[in-house]
Amino acid sequence: MMKSMITKVAMATLACMCVGGMNAQEDQKTYPAQEPMRPGMSEYWTPQPKVVTPGDIKTNSAPSDAIVLFDGKDLSAWESAKGGPAEWNVHDGIITVNKKSGDIQTKRKFNNYQLHIEWCVPTGITGSSQARGNSGIYMQGKYEVQVLDCYNNETYVNGMTGSIYKQTPPLVNAMRKPGEWNVYDIIYSAPIFKEDGTYRIPPHITVIQNGIVLQNNTTILGTTEYIGFPKVIKHDAGPIILQAHGDPSQPISYRNIWIREM
Ligand code: MG
Repeated sequence: MMKSMITKVAMATLACMCVGGMNAQEDQKTYPAQEPMRPGMSEYWTPQPKVVTPGDIKTNSAPSDAIVLFDGKDLSAWESAKGGPAEWNVHDGIITVNKKSGDIQTKRKFNNYQLHIEWCVPTGITGSSQARGNSGIYMQGKYEVQVLDCYNNETYVNGMTGSIYKQTPPLVNAMRKPGEWNVYDIIYSAPIFKEDGTYRIPPHITVIQNGIVLQNNTTILGTTEYIGFPKVIKHDAGPIILQAHGDPSQPISYRNIWIREM
């Protein structure tokens, strides 16, 4: 019995030594060194981005791949939001809001895009707060980026120029004074919906006015309601709508409108 136990202990010890010996051998095994990185190993060449010719600063033209929505000539890309032709006033290469005829919208519908649009509040504008050059630009027909004369004109901050109306104020007030043209460059990402109609990914928007960031990839919470909170309504691609606000002040004008789908 005693001899048997001694034999078992000896065999176990030998086994341990063998395993230990194998580990030691493996520790000594060598492998090829990691190949050193060369610059070309983290570079790729295809596909090459498409060449886009930028617009001419002097003539204020659109980039070569843009869909021109208004080039100063006519409203052929637009229709009344109520149906029928767009009846805003085209003159001198610009469009002036016709408050009586109501909102206009693009005939085409869009999802993700870069939108360029210029707008001007007339000199001698009257009124205050929201009743002073009120208009607006709706993404996919549902989400308003406010257009308003906020030059020396205070209002509720989530209704200011460049606000996501009744949601998110602009980071700053970058207004030019009445009579001068303001430029909006808007980058918009459409929402993605779940089957139940709620957002899987809500819409996002960046708004730049006169080269100054007002909204930095801001999450849009839902529709921009005048009364009440945002609503989440499932939708597909939608038009750009320009708002004919009923405030009694003089109508504003738009020009040089183009969009690049992304
Ligand atoms: Mg408005």
